[in-house]
Amino acid sequence: MALLEVEFERHIAVLIRDACLAGATEVRKLPPREIVVDAQMASYCREPGCPNYGMSPSCPPHVAGPEAFKALLGRSSLALVVRIEVPSAVLFSEERREVMRLLHEVVAGIERSAVRLGYRESKAFAGGSCKDLFCLNHADCQVLAGGGHCRNPEFARPSMSGFGVNVAKTLEMAGFGGVAKNGPAVRGEAGTSWVAGLVLIA
Ligand code: SF4
Repeated sequence: MALLEVEFERHIAVLIRDACLAGATEVRKLPPREIVVDAQMASYCREPGCPNYGMSPSCPPHVAGPEAFKALLGRSSLALVVRIEVPSAVLFSEERREVMRLLHEVVAGIERSAVRLGYRESKAFAGGSCKDLFCLNHADCQVLAGGGHCRNPEFARPSMSGFGVNVAKTLEMAGFGGVAKNGPAVRGEAGTSWVAGLVLIA
């Protein structure tokens, strides 16, 4: 293996280790071309619609969308797929936001470390709306309302959905078990579920 490849693998191992120490259950490597992008997924944010549609610059219609995401994949060397497992009931409880904020913190931490290691175009993606997760008690997103700075730049990251990422299929491509294991949490059902994020190393 060439010296540069050895260095790259060493950096990726550090990023994965630190993400697990920060709260990820597991992080897997995936060639960027194997991320499943489907423009239809992004359209669901608008119709049938998400209550957070348009509420922050991290969600449609303010994000660049599937085509720009595909272009970003083309410039990326590797994707890190992050999964945090939680009891299903947690995702239907008051603790849901806490778990989602942890997801944003973990992927943003990977992105920050990757940039520090020299992968300057690296980008992190999470799930959920940063308005709902970080600015729930504010009437507006500070960026959209007045052109101000984000209140949480170190943590808030865009949602994968707005870029058309089919999360369940992408997890499957990353080897996180079959479709059944990657299905959404079901209210009232016991068992373990998950939330997932993604970091493109570029
Ligand atoms: S100010 Fe709040 S809602 Fe706006 S981008 Fe930042 S975290 Fe998201």
